[in-house]
Amino acid sequence: MSLYGAEFLRTLKKRFGPDADVNFHPHGYLLLANEEGAPLLEDNNKLQRELGAVNVLLTKEKLKERFPYMDVSDVALGCLGLEKEGWFDPWSLLTLLKNGAKQLGAQYVTGEAVDFLFEEKSSIMVQGVDQGTYEGTNTLVVKLPNEDKCREIKFALCIIAAGCESAEVAKLARIGIGPGMLSIPLPIEKRKRYVYSFNCQGNPPSINTPMVIDHSGAYFRRDGLGGSFIAGRSPDPENEPPTDNMDVDYSYFDETVWPLIAKRVPAFNAVKVTGAWSGFYEYNTFDMNGIIGPHPYFLNMYIASGFSGHGIQQAPAVGRAVAELILDGRFQTIDLTRLGFDRLIVDKPMYEVGII
Ligand SMILES: Cc1cc2nc3c(=O)[nH]c(=O)nc-3n(C[C@H](O)[C@H](O)[C@H](O)COP(=O)(O)OP(=O)(O)OC[C@H]3O[C@@H](n4cnc5c(N)ncnc54)[C@H](O)[C@@H]3O)c2cc1C
Repeated sequence: MSLYGAEFLRTLKKRFGPDADVNFHPHGYLLLANEEGAPLLEDNNKLQRELGAVNVLLTKEKLKERFPYMDVSDVALGCLGLEKEGWFDPWSLLTLLKNGAKQLGAQYVTGEAVDFLFEEKSSIMVQGVDQGTYEGTNTLVVKLPNEDKCREIKFALCIIAAGCESAEVAKLARIGIGPGMLSIPLPIEKRKRYVYSFNCQGNPPSINTPMVIDHSGAYFRRDGLGGSFIAGRSPDPENEPPTDNMDVDYSYFDETVWPLIAKRVPAFNAVKVTGAWSGFYEYNTFDMNGIIGPHPYFLNMYIASGFSGHGIQQAPAVGRAVAELILDGRFQTIDLTRLGFDRLIVDKPMYEVGII
């Protein structure tokens, strides 16, 4: 899926015109493993190469040679992406996609989905629900900004793609609170993550510094060319921050993130924090992977959510796959059957081990 996303970005101008730009920085990711994590890194490297990724394993000596500004004394192995890896501006991509869809006739309505209206369809029988009758929906109730009254939107098909709110929206459609098949909830929760930006006061790492993902879970990458960087680390599960606000915890940088990145890059011992923000991962507590495809109960409802912090790189593939399901009735370009809702029913998780 990520390879498809990379190809999508590479051919952006063909799709969206000569001015299309998402500010792609092709400097790759560098994943660092300690002794314990090295076998997994090797396995991942092998699998990714088999699938067409271009990355290379680097021993401690090679790492020292290539990244002299890093202290790799506690690193056993690194894996560096040489092609099809980097970072870009997701807002620009969203804008391009939105404008492209508008040009093709899509209409956007900004509003909050607050309910679905249901109707019994006596001509349809479904297995897996107590009473055997099918109550379907083709009406969404939406609250528009600056309007007291709600409005109804009739739909032929509905895709639940509400990020970290997807489980709540699914509940409006009785997913997780209904009988039989509807009793299985969408296992998606909000998880707050902080990103900190800082200036390196000393001699910053070189211009072609990759995005570095340390074996401690901390990560950093350059942000522009003037010695600015961003960094972060997912909190330990027992210390998940509250999700009822978007407040940033600056002490988490001082006490947790900074010591880890300054150990890796000694020049980061002198930094000045210039800003920070928080966002919510749409965290799939079942197996930390996207849930993509039709809901087994509804005849007209699809799900595309739960990407657990790696949804941007997968977004073009998800869009393509869901479009194919709807237009062609099956996956054509990339078979995402294994990421369907059914794996929740048969209890077959597809764990993502590389989550940052
Ligand atoms: C700090 C941070 C760093 C990240 N870094 C990366 C990264 O490096 N690489 C990567 O691939 N991914 C990254 N991600 C993850 C990525 O942002 C998500 O996986 C991706 O945005 C998910 O896309 P989505 O369309 O499913 O959900 P979203 O982008 O969250 O979109 C959901 C939309 O649904 C709307 N919505 C919600 N509820 C309702 C409702 N009731 N009615 C109407 N609309 C509603 C929301 O307003 C929103 O517009 C990061 C996330 C965070 C928080």
